[in-house]
Amino acid sequence: EREFLLLQKDEPAVTVDGVHIELEANIELPEEADAALEMGATGIGLYRSEFLFMNRETLPSEQEQYEAYSHVLKTMGMDKPVTIRTLDIGSDKTLHNEATVAVNPALGLRAVRYCLAHPEMFLTQLRALLRASVHGRLRILIPMISHLHEVYEVKRYLTQAQNELMSEGYAIGEKVELGAMVEIPAIAIAIEPFLKELDFVSIGTNDLIQYTLAVDRVDDEVVSLYDSVHPAVLRLIHNTIQAGDRAGKPVCVCGEMAGDTNYTKLLLGLGLKSFSMHPAHIPEVKQIVRHAHTNVLRTRVARTLNHGEIIDLDAVNA
Ligand code: PEP
Ligand code: MG
Repeated sequence: EREFLLLQKDEPAVTVDGVHIELEANIELPEEADAALEMGATGIGLYRSEFLFMNRETLPSEQEQYEAYSHVLKTMGMDKPVTIRTLDIGSDKTLHNEATVAVNPALGLRAVRYCLAHPEMFLTQLRALLRASVHGRLRILIPMISHLHEVYEVKRYLTQAQNELMSEGYAIGEKVELGAMVEIPAIAIAIEPFLKELDFVSIGTNDLIQYTLAVDRVDDEVVSLYDSVHPAVLRLIHNTIQAGDRAGKPVCVCGEMAGDTNYTKLLLGLGLKSFSMHPAHIPEVKQIVRHAHTNVLRTRVARTLNHGEIIDLDAVNA
């Protein structure tokens, strides 16, 4: 059956009622871009760049980063978007040379907060990304954004990196897009001003669920409370998708939910049009998409959502 699904890799992910769905890949290493293509990914929705920084004594140089990012962009070509997330370090992922001393690392100096506190390191990454952007369609994704001023600060560093590179004679891609992860409930609730400043957003359900329910995503003792379909979580996802539609900005889901076939119809019912997942899941998710009626699913899901009720997944998936 797996072979049968793979045969459909070049078939478009279009629902029965004609809605085009993007099925993109999450990767952690540049070489995984090949697997993404083999599975029929229409782009890279999340390249977790932190894996270039972990388990080593020193930070990767600008040149080393440039080569890694370029490899992914070249593999995907000039048509397929490549979303590279800036360093998401702290909390569950740590740098070799930094002992974690934060009292509460998930709420501490993590991801974009860490980058803005280490501008030299951040600028090196932004320079490498912009240099690589000539090789394809680059989208830069910023993790753990909670405040608008963080977006402004990131933009200032991007402009600085761009000016430096241009005066040094480097070419930069014409249309580099900037987006943010929606993984803190605050931004999912008050998303509109962020959408004005950004080209796209990507919902990180792994962290969004953790922060919404106050349940540590890596703590086995509370794993039963880690509920992907809690009504509050679904409302946050729905609100983000709707606001994105109103603003004409793409909204992706790149957390584990996007690759779990139990949730494909639910996410379609919430109005999602872009999924990013481990490449291996793409064929199965595509199969469900190609048999789904989004209108029917939207009606089913909306009814439950409006009442704040617990969703009946069996009914959604029926
Ligand atoms: C997420 O939080 O859902 C996500 C995609 O990012 P990570 O799992 O790397 O934190
Ligand atoms: Mg995350």
